[in-house]
Amino acid sequence: MITSAEQTVLDRIDNAELIAWVQALTRIPSVWKPETGEGEAAAAAWVAERCREIGLETHVEEVVPGRPNVVAWLRGARLQGARLQGARLQGARSLMFEGHTDVVTEGDPALWTDPPFSATLRDGKIFGRGANDMKAGLVCALIALKALKESGLALGGDVVLGAVCDEEGRMLGIKHFVEQGWADRVTAAIVCEPEENHLCIAQKGVMWIRVEITGVMAHGAMPLTGANAMYPLATFLQGVFALQEREIARHGRHAFLGQPSITPTIVQFPPRGAGEPQNNVMPGAAECVLDFRLIPGQDADALAAAVETLLRAAVAVDERLSYTCQVIEVRAPTATAQDEPVVQALAGSVTALTGADPIYGGVPGSTDGTILNARKGIPIVTCGPGDIFIPHHIDEWVSVEEIKLAARLYVLAAMRYLGIAD
Ligand SMILES: [Zn+2]
Repeated sequence: MITSAEQTVLDRIDNAELIAWVQALTRIPSVWKPETGEGEAAAAAWVAERCREIGLETHVEEVVPGRPNVVAWLRGARLQGARLQGARLQGARSLMFEGHTDVVTEGDPALWTDPPFSATLRDGKIFGRGANDMKAGLVCALIALKALKESGLALGGDVVLGAVCDEEGRMLGIKHFVEQGWADRVTAAIVCEPEENHLCIAQKGVMWIRVEITGVMAHGAMPLTGANAMYPLATFLQGVFALQEREIARHGRHAFLGQPSITPTIVQFPPRGAGEPQNNVMPGAAECVLDFRLIPGQDADALAAAVETLLRAAVAVDERLSYTCQVIEVRAPTATAQDEPVVQALAGSVTALTGADPIYGGVPGSTDGTILNARKGIPIVTCGPGDIFIPHHIDEWVSVEEIKLAARLYVLAAMRYLGIAD
């Protein structure tokens, strides 16, 4: 059921404007190009301009030169003395809508049906690099904030929009957002990534470990004059495979994420940057990168220690062998309980708007939400418009129907999560 107060705010959403804004933002290419220093600046400026027009408290912060974050606040009623309708509030809540302004490369433009940044509207879809991942989700949050602001209703807490840079890279934008203290009072976050408006309450974690085994280089005709690093690496990889089997047996299948995995994604002999491979040369070292995909319950530190144990055993066969092992990146898996208030607010909003039960799911990769959850313990839900499988593809598109629903979902979720002061 939708209350009359909610309906008043929903009525302020203008579908034509929503579509036009998604197109406008998609038309601003925001691929990060380290060679030229071009990136998110123009897209961020567009978002900041809209935020100021709406009347939000708007901050633009350079994360690194040319790569800004936009942070915009819609301040709620101060809670002291204000009575709140709806949600039973324990202390002040603040809800974050999170999105990134960077998009991945369009690849070869000749492969696209329409120019990659044309934002062509056809058959109920908007086509363009970044339309789906995730200019549309970002605009839906903006439009929701606009409707909430224009309605003049005092929400029981603050809403903050974080439009950050570098999600597709090292997540510098969201890390900066957290470091600046913006996340300190955020009590829940909706990550507006393309999930077909499903409620994704779990995310796989990731860990990358780079391993190098060093032996002694030799002529291929006289291998015994050296120490071959590849055989111990092969032994090590068999151990890694067994470790993966043990982890699967121990943790099973997560309802939304499936089973964990360990994948050797790079195996090089000689290592990258250590000379050209040659048919008759036994290189002096071998390199391997392991890509761990983690589900809730797995312990990244324990897995890294298990990798070291395997390496120690693999090189123990020859005293000329040695190894190095480096954890390059760890992003923990996340799980948000179904009864978290933000999940409940979204779930109720889905039912109110569509008459159907919400669909719950999980995110196979990590998102900026991973950082919010890991560093600040913020419960996160990933929920936004856009086909789940189309990000980064040629002819990327987003459904207009899903955009319309997402903007409305965000309005209702904010009102229900924060309550309304009277
Ligand atoms: Zn994305």
